[in-house]
Amino acid sequence: MTDILNLLRSNIRTLVPYSSARDEYKGEEAVFLDANENPYNQPLNRYPDPLQVKLKARIASIKQVKPGQIFLGNGSDEAIDLLFRAFCDPGTDNVVAIKPTYGMYKVCADIHNVEYREVLLTSDFQADVKQLLAAADSHSKMLFLCSPNNPTSNSLEAADILALIRQFQGIVVLDEAYIDFSTRPSMAAKLREHPNLVILQTFSKAWGMAGIRLGMAFASETLIGVLNKIKYPYNINILTQRAALQVLSGPSQRDAWITLILNERSRLQQALSGLPLVKQVLPSDANFLMVQFEQPREVFDFLIARKIIVRDRSRVPLCEGYLRITIGTPLENDLLLQALKDFNSPPTLQNL
Ligand SMILES: *Cc1c(COP(=O)(O)O)cnc(C)c1O
Repeated sequence: MTDILNLLRSNIRTLVPYSSARDEYKGEEAVFLDANENPYNQPLNRYPDPLQVKLKARIASIKQVKPGQIFLGNGSDEAIDLLFRAFCDPGTDNVVAIKPTYGMYKVCADIHNVEYREVLLTSDFQADVKQLLAAADSHSKMLFLCSPNNPTSNSLEAADILALIRQFQGIVVLDEAYIDFSTRPSMAAKLREHPNLVILQTFSKAWGMAGIRLGMAFASETLIGVLNKIKYPYNINILTQRAALQVLSGPSQRDAWITLILNERSRLQQALSGLPLVKQVLPSDANFLMVQFEQPREVFDFLIARKIIVRDRSRVPLCEGYLRITIGTPLENDLLLQALKDFNSPPTLQNL
């Protein structure tokens, strides 16, 4: 693997970043007359910490990485977008990705006018290492992997991920949005050996904070330094930084939620598998189930009429006939099961 700085777009390599007032003076207790803020309406009157130092210190100790190896973004999507800005020359470079997977990688490639090369997963939903490497050329700057994968709900084999990290001659972006629901460990422990690895995690799933928009990227300090250089100066607002700090500083319900969701996942998996209209339920390492139906469209519409919204993935390659169902509360899951039992059964007098 060459120096990752050689993979950067030349304009990014030479960029002199914007220097904000809060970059130049980082102290706390002071008379702040430097940033043209309103002196009233504390604390929201102040610009947020551009590098989120306190929050990163907490995350670093939890995730066993250095603070300098963490980038925080407005959702994982910001990190994905910045990676394209940093590494891909529009119209020239390309990226490689597994298919099917999270839709945002392709949207981001399209926005940046970067060719998106997709390689179908194998029939058991694993990465096709040979084909992924064969799809790459000297303009392939990034490879997108997602494990556990959305929408297929399984984990990719660690040996395959490592082989790709070793052999792909660019940045490997490994999206671990669902890692907290998996029995497999995060690849974060491998960051030191692999300067081309970027791991994405998020506060949107296990932490239950999709609304505050906070995504994490872990990588080498060099690579994180590049993202810091090109991000909006104040990309994480004060409310988000406070909410995250608060949740990481006290006792959190996260582990209890994960246990509850995993218990419900196996209960739902069993109950769904026993329904005549269900063809099969894929094993899941995430907080959702892929459920194959004989009549996916009809079931989807029937559920909507009951105000139960699931995701129709039935036209996605390798996922024909599948609906993606997020694990809800026990009550919500019961409502889903009851609705599915009512599908096709003649209406009772009560319902008429
Ligand atoms: C839900 C999800 C995310 C989370 O994105 P945020 O922008 O952090 O909310 C990231 N990657 C995948 C694959 C997801 O399914």
